[in-house]
Amino acid sequence: MSIALTPNIAETRTRVAEARKNNLTIGVVPTMGALHEGHGELVRRARAENGFVVVTLFVNPIQFNRREDLDRYPRDVSKDVAYCDSLGADVVFAPEVDEMYPGQLMTSVEVSGVSQYLEGEFRPGHFKGVSTVVAKLLNIVQADRAYFGEKDAQQLAVIQKMVADLNMPVTIVPVPTVREADGLALSSRNRLLSPEEREQAPVVYRALQAAQAQILSGETAKVARIAALSILAENPSMRLDYLEVVDAATMTPVDQNAQLTAPVRIAIAVWLGKTRLIDNVLAS
Ligand code: AMP
Repeated sequence: MSIALTPNIAETRTRVAEARKNNLTIGVVPTMGALHEGHGELVRRARAENGFVVVTLFVNPIQFNRREDLDRYPRDVSKDVAYCDSLGADVVFAPEVDEMYPGQLMTSVEVSGVSQYLEGEFRPGHFKGVSTVVAKLLNIVQADRAYFGEKDAQQLAVIQKMVADLNMPVTIVPVPTVREADGLALSSRNRLLSPEEREQAPVVYRALQAAQAQILSGETAKVARIAALSILAENPSMRLDYLEVVDAATMTPVDQNAQLTAPVRIAIAVWLGKTRLIDNVLAS
């Protein structure tokens, strides 16, 4: 195995500094581990576009607003490291909580506006935890490029705004959502689904596609939403947190009855049993 695994901030910095001395560009892929092909796509992009690739694995406690979700979150560091190695990453930075938060955290990053609705509304404090940990990871690795999935489109928008507002010297690279053959977006949480729930799960993407088709044919957000809801109704056991058509740039709700002129994102969060899935598609 040629990849280096380190739980240590100082060692990660030393390795990155060495690579930089050798004139390599640095790419970073921040993740919470339990890696799948979706993460793999981010690492592949990073590998193709940089001389040195760091993958971070950290289940960030301060972005979980529910203790149970944090406790249930899947973890498999040795498998993740082997996967990163197979993709040609150079370093896996997998810190313990104490390494990232050695004392009481007195400083945090909060991005307003883009973080207000959708996940921001249903998971209070979530994005404050995300933007704070991503700011820390970007400061630790000091990469030229950082890779984020469109699967978490609002997170991507929050990070892009943070980096722009705070003049952070890194390019954020969005990567399209990787899906299973039946349309289900790959997610670490999918492995928590029972076989029955897994069978129902593709309805989430079908609902998004139904809404997307309406919008592309010139219908309003309201009509699109109704189309998606009627698909979801096939599975009454699913519990909906939200299904919204938002402005793709600001992630804020659009007028339900107006003709749409700017690109929109259709975003959804649903519960299947104890597992919460999110997904989104663009319509422009
Ligand atoms: P996570 O480990 O869930 O925090 O995700 C780490 C990164 O991988 C985030 O930028 C996610 O948006 C991205 N990601 C997760 N699932 C997918 C997917 N199915 N396709 C593309 N990117 C993904």
